[in-house]
Amino acid sequence: MTLKEKLDQALLHYAARAGHGVQQPVRAVLFDMDGVLYDSMPGHARAWQGMCRENGIDCDPDEFFGYEGMTGAATIDLLFRRQFGRAATPDDAKRLYARKSELFAAQGTPIIMPGAQSAVASVVAHGARCVLVTGSGQGSLLTRLNGDYNDAFQLRVTAYDVTHGKPDPEPYLVGLQKAGVQAAHALAVDNAPLGVQSASAAGIFTIGVRTGPLPEGALLAAGADIEINSMNECTILLSYLL
Ligand code: CA
Repeated sequence: MTLKEKLDQALLHYAARAGHGVQQPVRAVLFDMDGVLYDSMPGHARAWQGMCRENGIDCDPDEFFGYEGMTGAATIDLLFRRQFGRAATPDDAKRLYARKSELFAAQGTPIIMPGAQSAVASVVAHGARCVLVTGSGQGSLLTRLNGDYNDAFQLRVTAYDVTHGKPDPEPYLVGLQKAGVQAAHALAVDNAPLGVQSASAAGIFTIGVRTGPLPEGALLAAGADIEINSMNECTILLSYLL
């Protein structure tokens, strides 16, 4: 099946579940950050592992790919409940997330995801808003965004803007609100099952981009309307949708 045929199917799937199609003009595209704009997930996994080691928390190196999209506080709470049989206090969460962020930043600059700059540039060229919707509170990356993406992301939803992180729809709903755009006039791009679940539940046409070690079909199973394999494919898809 060509990408265009896959898209036509996906649009029908979306119309059936949302009760309306993707409405023209598309006014906003909501992008997740880690694993979409930056190839940063392996570095995050290493930083989580290091933080766990220092704090007597057992972990599996691969488990952090499964938590992708959750806020740092939610991930720390999950680790605490498993290891210590209690919730993490706000102070635990703050302290350990700060340490994890430090270990992440110490690894140097993460690579910009191949194809992501042209995807973002195509949205800007079309006159639609770009909105960042991330569970991250990683200051080092959030600061780099302006330079790497030509100030396209003035509108941002980060860990600090929501009560309930992904997979709750709140982050993507807040993103729509910040852009002043209805779900029908928006698209979402996310690489993680929890993120895709959040965007889909917010009623947005959801592009799942498989940039990491997930099995084929995992993002469709989480509720993506279409699953693609790279941000280069995303740029092609946007050329049909915008
Ligand atoms: Ca992600």
